[in-house]
Amino acid sequence: MIQFQVQIKVLNCGTILTEDYTKDISDPEQWAREMISRFNNDCGSHQSRRELVGIKVTGEDMNTLHDWQREGGENYRDDTVKNFFCVTCGITGKKLQNGGSNPVIRDFKWRAKKYHYCDGERKC
Ligand SMILES: [Zn+2]
Repeated sequence: MIQFQVQIKVLNCGTILTEDYTKDISDPEQWAREMISRFNNDCGSHQSRRELVGIKVTGEDMNTLHDWQREGGENYRDDTVKNFFCVTCGITGKKLQNGGSNPVIRDFKWRAKKYHYCDGERKC
């Protein structure tokens, strides 16, 4: 996710609008250009066309990491079992043996990129 501010000029009066967005995109400037060109294509005769003044990234990577907790709890004895689950959303993963501080690898079911961060919604 990326948080950004888009400044837009309303061409017939010169007003500058500032709009805040949070989007899962890599190029907010391109996104803003496309949004404005869509607006201009759709705007009726009573609406003014708009122009992109600029964008400002206000926050990046505001995503939350999964809150991994080991199945069986902290004092679980069997070191060969390293199953983890996220207490927030419920997805599961594994830590490789001798993984140390290595991150938890999400289970196959949760490999998709969209599960990389925790959106806080219960998945299972
Ligand atoms: Zn999670």
